[in-house]
Amino acid sequence: MDQHSEIPILDLAPELAEVARELEAAWRRVLASRQFILGPEVEAFEQEVAAWLGVRHAVGVNSGTDALVIALRALGIGPGDEVVTTPFTFFATAESISAVGATPVFADIDPATFNLRTDLVERALTPRTKAILPVHLFGLAADMQALSALAVRHGLAVVEDVAQAFGGADQGRRLGTFGAASAFSFFPSKNLGCLGDGGLVTTDDDRIAGEARALRAHGSRRKYFNEVVGYNSRLDALQAAVLRAKLPRVEGWNAARREAADRYRALLRPAPGITLPTERPGTWHVYHQFTIRVGGGRRDALRDWLAARGIGTMVYYPRPLHRMPPYAGQSCPCPEAEAASREVLSLPMWPRIAPEAQQRVAQGILGFLDAHRAAP
Ligand SMILES: *Cc1c(COP(=O)(O)O)cnc(C)c1O
Repeated sequence: MDQHSEIPILDLAPELAEVARELEAAWRRVLASRQFILGPEVEAFEQEVAAWLGVRHAVGVNSGTDALVIALRALGIGPGDEVVTTPFTFFATAESISAVGATPVFADIDPATFNLRTDLVERALTPRTKAILPVHLFGLAADMQALSALAVRHGLAVVEDVAQAFGGADQGRRLGTFGAASAFSFFPSKNLGCLGDGGLVTTDDDRIAGEARALRAHGSRRKYFNEVVGYNSRLDALQAAVLRAKLPRVEGWNAARREAADRYRALLRPAPGITLPTERPGTWHVYHQFTIRVGGGRRDALRDWLAARGIGTMVYYPRPLHRMPPYAGQSCPCPEAEAASREVLSLPMWPRIAPEAQQRVAQGILGFLDAHRAAP
């Protein structure tokens, strides 16, 4: 890596190069089969990914957003129901709740993990609450034991948003296996990504799996007999073939992300005013993002400083969901989500990021901090 090349926030090239031959074989296989939507390639992926995760059923759908919508609908959540979730996530988390006619209710986050706090979820429950929807943000598990126990006590369903945490675990158990239903995204930038849109619903419950299969195909279990109004949300065979090629490598890629995270930690340990990501004990963080907090109102200045040095960063997320127009009416005393949105900065992260690139990122950050100390 030369000293002046740009360092993007994400580079998919090494990952795609590793599977290039399998991708070409997948393309030829699907072309020869002439079955492009659902079919044997999707069924094979569903079986392989269910076995990999340790769950009975996996249902391939069109996107992570659709996976959330279909999981909620399969659980019978709809108008009049409330679902407690985090305001510090991608918009689709709450949007899916609204899309089924239910109401998202936001509970504040733990500033160290960026995930839901169980005590605040409990405080947000009302007689209308039907489900809790935790997000495993940036690849770190939400506290699934505490949230599951709370759900059991109150007779609620748990729906996991695993879009950012494929392969992550909590207390030795893979994410996407705790909830009554769970939703994954295969958007290209996710830890397991396809070459377009794709998603997955997982569940151990035969009935929920059956509902999800019907809902993704216009509410029909039999061709041209539509029991309910569903969606056109089928997974493409080509995307399933790509995912089959990548699935055996994702564990190694996640391990490489963790090594990259360790290198950032070592490089940034002496950075005053910077908070590094934490790992809750017993979790397997898969570093979808390596997200630091920058105190003292200097986040945007640091971002500009790094951009001037060819280093890409992103702010996930600059605005909590209760500050978005559709949810502006929500009463959400969520000071931690608001503070996080002002302070977070995600650094370049992908499985094969070069240590030299990480060194340059760290030098950029340390240089910024020095320059600011020197300022009057
Ligand atoms: C990416 C993402 C989604 C949506 O997934 P799509 O496949 O883009 O529809 C939902 N929730 C979270 C937390 C995400 O990061």
